[in-house]
Amino acid sequence: MISDLRIGGLTPLTTIDYPEHLSCVIYCQGCAWQCRYCHNPEMIPVKAEQAISNSELEQFLLKRQGLLDAVVFSGGEPLLQKNLVAAIQNVKSMGFKVGLHTGGSSTSRLEQVLKYVDWVGFDVKDLPQYADALIQVKGAGHANWGSLKALLKSGVNYQCRTTVHWDLISPGRVLQLAQQLSQAGVTHYNLQIARTGNTLDPALIDDSSTYSMVPKGVRLKLCEEIKPMFEQFQWIE
Ligand code: SF4
Repeated sequence: MISDLRIGGLTPLTTIDYPEHLSCVIYCQGCAWQCRYCHNPEMIPVKAEQAISNSELEQFLLKRQGLLDAVVFSGGEPLLQKNLVAAIQNVKSMGFKVGLHTGGSSTSRLEQVLKYVDWVGFDVKDLPQYADALIQVKGAGHANWGSLKALLKSGVNYQCRTTVHWDLISPGRVLQLAQQLSQAGVTHYNLQIARTGNTLDPALIDDSSTYSMVPKGVRLKLCEEIKPMFEQFQWIE
C-alpha cells in the first residue's frame, strides 16, 4: 500500500529524470514557492484534481517491479507532502531505488527524507541574496541554500541544477553563482535554459528562443569558464 500523496501527474517511463536509470516520475501536487519562470504553474496549487488515485499508483508500480530501476518524486515540491517519507519507504520496500527532485523549501523535511533517497536532483535557484526575488517568497533563498548544505553534508548522490532565464540573471551572475557553488563543495552541476512557452509570470512567456538574448559567443565562453569548476558539468539548451 502506498501512503496517500496528492498526485498531479505520472510519467510512466523516462531515462532522463534519474541519470542512468530507467524510472517513472510521480509529480507531487503543490508548491510553497512562486518562481517567476515556473513552467508548470498548474502544479503550484496544493488542491487540484488527483491525476491518478493512490491505489492506481500502487497497481502501476506492482506491474513495473523488475522493469523499472527507480521511482522519482518530483513536483511541484515533494517536500510539501506530509506522507512523503512513508511513501518513499513503501516504494523502496517494493524494490525500487528512489530519486527526488526538490528546491529544498523545507530543510528539516529534506533532512528526514535524505535518510531514504538514493539520488537528488537539486534546484539551486540563484545566489541567496537574489533568490527571493525570483521565488517571490521571503526567506526562500536562505532555505534553498540551507537545504543545499544539508544535501552536501548527507553524502547522498546528487546533481545540482540552475534554470537560467536571461531576463532574470546575467551571464556575470551565472559565473558568480557557479563559483560560489564550487566553493561550497558542489561537484555535479547543470545549467538549463528556461522553457518559456508557459511561465507563471506572463511577462516571461516568449515563444521565440530566449537564448538569443545572450549571444552564442558569450554562452560558449561562460561554459568554458564554468566547466573546470566541477567534476561533471553540462549546459543544456
Ligand atoms: S519552479 Fe518553483 S514554483 Fe515551480 S514547482 Fe518548482 S519550486 Fe515550485
